[in-house]
Amino acid sequence: MEIETWWLLVGAIVFFALGWFAARIDIRYVMRDARALPSAYFRGLNYLLRQENDKAVESFVDVSRRDPYALDLQLALGSLFRRQGRLADATAIHQSLVDRHDLPKEKRDLALFELAQDFHASGLFDRAETLYEQLEGTAFEAEALTKLAAVLEQEKEWAKVVAVRTRIEKLNREPQGKLIAQCYCELADVALAKNDLAVVHENLALANSFNRNCGRAKLLSFRAAVRAADVPGGKAALEELARVQPELLPLVSDEVITLWSGESPQTAVEQLASAQRNAPSSIGLSKLIDASTKYEGSPKAMGRLRAELQRNPSAREVAKLLDMESAQRDETSGLLLKESAELLRRATEKTPGYHCAHCGFRAPRYYWKCPGCNTWEAFKATPLGS
Ligand SMILES: [Zn+2]
Repeated sequence: MEIETWWLLVGAIVFFALGWFAARIDIRYVMRDARALPSAYFRGLNYLLRQENDKAVESFVDVSRRDPYALDLQLALGSLFRRQGRLADATAIHQSLVDRHDLPKEKRDLALFELAQDFHASGLFDRAETLYEQLEGTAFEAEALTKLAAVLEQEKEWAKVVAVRTRIEKLNREPQGKLIAQCYCELADVALAKNDLAVVHENLALANSFNRNCGRAKLLSFRAAVRAADVPGGKAALEELARVQPELLPLVSDEVITLWSGESPQTAVEQLASAQRNAPSSIGLSKLIDASTKYEGSPKAMGRLRAELQRNPSAREVAKLLDMESAQRDETSGLLLKESAELLRRATEKTPGYHCAHCGFRAPRYYWKCPGCNTWEAFKATPLGS
């Protein structure tokens, strides 16, 4: 019994001693970290705050050589600076890391990726492009390729974008067909501006091969046909456009009228009316009513407007109807209607046009790629009633 008590006592002392030892070791580590980090690291931060970038970088390099954890802190700090728009500071930190030859490969690749993004954000596209390319075969290749595609799109290097998107599709197995079709449409658009119709058709065939329901390719094919006065080709392209994306038809309403001007403009107005029925929009209605007024006369145009308002009530379009009515009345009641139209317009405020379904960016004209968030095919016409 006495021996058991003695062993219990020895056990308790050993247990206490081990606990004390462990605590000492932890405290020593904490003290070492606390001593090592603040003195050198905060010296670097101070230099940065005083805009003395070279000295700051020297301090950080010194810290990260002694403490591997400081390397992650530097990377985090660099990325933070970029997000704050302090691009020179971010670049200085990342460049110093890339210049070091003692970094583990994974960390150096990360620093290279960060530096590429600094150049990208600074508008130094050539340098960003080179660095993104250098990340081939690294863990950051997929992300770098997506960013490289964005750089090349900004530079309008459409053939290169196609090559990069093909690589992305192979690497990530993410379908890029719709985006590649947009690149060929961009090339077709450039060729159309130069009236080089052979190149237009070549690129549109490629766009269709990547996305057979590409509305923009049908729209450009229609424009090319109108340019060539190819009436059957134009009608076929318009039919295709109305089938895949009727909401784009108001963008070519003038060309629709041109195509039918030799035969019957009323048929063209019918085409616009049909597109409006399939994809009602404020812009589409406005184009339809203008064309109808011109080729069918005011009474028919007002009839179309009334019918459309029955289907899709919209205060803003009622203002347009009141305007048209006012022209048919005597001076006093006409003026009254005009004033009512103006009040309605003020109450509805927003100018009809287009907006990005992705970020909400509004614009009076259509963009294939949103200038606000760079998303392709996100623009929508302002719906009726909004
Ligand atoms: Zn957007």
